[in-house]
Amino acid sequence: MATRSPEPAARRPAWHGGWYANARRMDSPNHGPRPPQASVDLIVVHSISLPPGEFGGGHVHRLFMNRLDWDAHPYFQQIRGLEVSTHFFITRAGVLWQFVDVGRRAWHAGRSHYRGRDACNDDSIGVELEGLEGGSFEQAQYATLVTLCKALRQRYPVRYIAGHEHIAPERKHDPGPGFDWRVLRGAFAGTGVLFPPGC
Ligand SMILES: [Zn+2]
Repeated sequence: MATRSPEPAARRPAWHGGWYANARRMDSPNHGPRPPQASVDLIVVHSISLPPGEFGGGHVHRLFMNRLDWDAHPYFQQIRGLEVSTHFFITRAGVLWQFVDVGRRAWHAGRSHYRGRDACNDDSIGVELEGLEGGSFEQAQYATLVTLCKALRQRYPVRYIAGHEHIAPERKHDPGPGFDWRVLRGAFAGTGVLFPPGC
């Protein structure tokens, strides 16, 4: 009697609703509805580490879950009470976490403007790379980022990929000059995806 072989990985659905099947899930309380007519066409790349330059301590996860102990490190005083989130977080090892359903509005961009529109949280996907602003990133992170961006393009009409520094240039500088935009540019060559000038 024939037994059914397991479904090949490529045939498994990439998305369960707004949750990416290849991400580890942790539900942040920090999100809200997108405007009804929002056209999600922008991916925003960020960098974050807590405290800055220290990796793997779990503080970033706790920040997005509103569970960071503000007294655990002197730097945390500067961000005490901050309520933020991201859709995705990629660790130094390239492990992908998802904190907010992509159909919901995450709180990563703040005051921002890009491709003629304000308030980029309304109609973008936020991806945080574990890293130090201005520092370099790991090959495993680029690999996960490229795969994720391709999966997002199956779901949304993504036309733009930009850094936080490009959508809020007067306030933000992440991911910074250590991020190699050529990797993304190469991965999306010929697809019509647009990058900021100079990237
Ligand atoms: Zn940022």
